[in-house]
Amino acid sequence: MFKKILIANRGEIALRIQRACRELDVKSVVVYSEADRDAKYVKLADEAVCIGPAPSSQSYLNMPAIIATAEVTDAEAIHPGYGFLSENADFAERVERSGFVFIGPTPDSIRIMGDKVSAKQAMIKAGMPCVPGSEGALPDDPKEAIRSARAIGYPVIIKAAGGGGGRGMRVVHTEAALVSAVQMTRAEAGAAFGNPAVYMEKFLENPRHIEIQVLADQHKNVLWLGERDCSMQRRHQKVIEEAPAPGIARRAIEKIGERCVAACKRIGYRGAGTFEFLFENGEFFFIEMNTRIQVEHPVTEWVTGIDIVLMQLRIAAGEKLPLLQRSVQCRGHAVECRINAEDPYRFTPSPGRITMWHPPGGPGVRVDSHAYTNYVVPPNYDSMIGKIIVHGDTREQALARMRTALSETVVEGIQTNIALHRELMVDAKFIEGGTSIHYLESWLDQHKR
Ligand code: ADP
Repeated sequence: MFKKILIANRGEIALRIQRACRELDVKSVVVYSEADRDAKYVKLADEAVCIGPAPSSQSYLNMPAIIATAEVTDAEAIHPGYGFLSENADFAERVERSGFVFIGPTPDSIRIMGDKVSAKQAMIKAGMPCVPGSEGALPDDPKEAIRSARAIGYPVIIKAAGGGGGRGMRVVHTEAALVSAVQMTRAEAGAAFGNPAVYMEKFLENPRHIEIQVLADQHKNVLWLGERDCSMQRRHQKVIEEAPAPGIARRAIEKIGERCVAACKRIGYRGAGTFEFLFENGEFFFIEMNTRIQVEHPVTEWVTGIDIVLMQLRIAAGEKLPLLQRSVQCRGHAVECRINAEDPYRFTPSPGRITMWHPPGGPGVRVDSHAYTNYVVPPNYDSMIGKIIVHGDTREQALARMRTALSETVVEGIQTNIALHRELMVDAKFIEGGTSIHYLESWLDQHKR
C-alpha cells in the first residue's frame, strides 16, 4: 500500500478519500484553493498545500501545480475524486509520466469513454445494447442529420460527444427544428468542452436511469456491485439515488451486470467505474461510462458492504480484489439525498456562511459532508455541500429513516434543498417507486411557487 497520496479535489469527496486513507494508514496531502482555506478536510489533512486562487481553472484544474505538489510532498499516487480532472486523460497521462500512480483507469480507457461517440462504438463492439442513434458523430452536412433523424424517428436528442454534468444536450421534436438545434449544440459543445462533435440518439420518452457499479483490478478480475436507480433528476442532474432499483427483475439486472463485467474484460478496464443505462419497457440501453468514483457511490457501499474508495486505493496499489462475484450480496435498501446550497424551488445557488449545522444521526444514517457551523460555502464551485444516506432492511424502512433524518437536519444561514427532499419523501408516486427520469421535473412544474 502507498505511504502517502495526494487528493486532487475538494469538498465532501476530499474528506471521503481522506477517511479511506486513514483506515489504510496512508498519509494524505490535500491541495486547496484560497477559497477553501478553512475547509474541514484541509484542517484534517496530514499535509495541505494552497495551489492557487479560487477559480478552479487556476487551482483544481491546474495540472502543473498539482503535480508539483505531489513532487514536493513525496506523494506516491494521486486520487482525482469526481469532477475537475477526474476524467481528463491528459492529466492521468501526465501523472503517470511524472512517476506517480493515477488512482483510476488507464489514460486510454479514460480517453475512449470520455468521448461518448467512441465509448458507444466500443460498447457496441462489446455487445452492449445502446440507445438507437447516429453511427458515430454527425457530419457537417445538414442532410445527413435529417437522414439520421428520419431513420431513428422523432423525438431525437442531440448530444455533445465531450459533454458531461447534464450539459450539452438538446431534444428535437420536429424536422423543422433539427438543423438549427444541431448547429447550436455544436457551437455550445465547442465552447464548453473544447470538442464540437455531436451525435444523435432516439429520445426515450419514459425511461429510468439505472447504472451498474464495477470494480476491476490489474489482474483481470472484475466485479459488478449491483445497480443504482438515479432517475430523480433535474436538468439531467441527479438529485436522489437509491439501490437496488425498485421493481426490476433480478434476472434482468444480473444479465446486464454480467455484460458490464464482460465489457470491462474486453477493454482491459481497471479501477472503479460506472456503466450508465436508460431502462425502458424492460430493456437496458447504454448511454455512457464514468471512469471515476461517483457522488452516489455510498448507496452501493451500504447494500454491498464494500468500501469502494478503499478498493480504488487497493487496486491502484496493485492488489487483487479480495472477493469473488458470488460473495457480492446486496442486503436491504439504501437511499441518498444530495444536499445543495440553493433555493429549493428556484435552484439559484445560495453560497455564504452556515450559521447553524446540525446533521442527522441514528440507526441507518450516514452523512458525507465537509460542512460545519460557521463554514462559508464559496460561490466558486458546485453547490453540493453534502449527502444524507440511509439504509433499511426494506425500501419502506429506508424511506422512513430518510424522513426522520431530514426532519432532524438543521442548516441555517444559507438556503438548501432540504425542504424539497422532505416533500419528495412523502410523494405517493416516489414512494411507490420506479418513476422515470422526467418525473421530478414534471413534479416541479406542478408544484410551482
Ligand atoms: P452526462 O454525461 O451529462 O451525465 P448522460 O449521457 O449520462 O450525460 O445523460 C444524462 C441524462 O440525460 C440521463 O440520465 C437522462 O436523464 C438524459 N438522457 C441522455 N440521453 C437520453 C436519451 N437518449 N433519451 C432520453 N434521455 C436521455
